[in-house]
Amino acid sequence: MTRLDDARTAAREYLKLMIGDAWPEWRTCYSTDGTEMPSGIAPVCPDEGHEEDDGTVYNCCPEPVLEVETYPLAEYLVALLNSDRPGGAE
Ligand SMILES: [Zn+2]
Repeated sequence: MTRLDDARTAAREYLKLMIGDAWPEWRTCYSTDGTEMPSGIAPVCPDEGHEEDDGTVYNCCPEPVLEVETYPLAEYLVALLNSDRPGGAE
C-alpha cells in the first residue's frame, strides 16, 4: 500500500462515519464571510432548496467544511477529490 492508498482509505472511513458517504462529491464554498471568491471546500449539499451554484454554507449543508484560505487551492482540491471518486477521473 502506498501512502496515498493509506490516506484515501482512512479518509473514506472517516467520511463514511461522519456523513454516511465515503465518496462525496465536493464543491468550493464560502467558509469565511467576506471573501471575494470561495476559499473553502465542502461536500455538495443534497438539500433540494440549496441551489447548486450557491457557494454559501447553510444549516442544510453536510460537514466537513474545510477552510483552505485561497480560491486556487480550493479549486484544485475539489478537482483532485472529485477526480479520485469512482469513475470521477477526467
Ligand atoms: Zn446546503
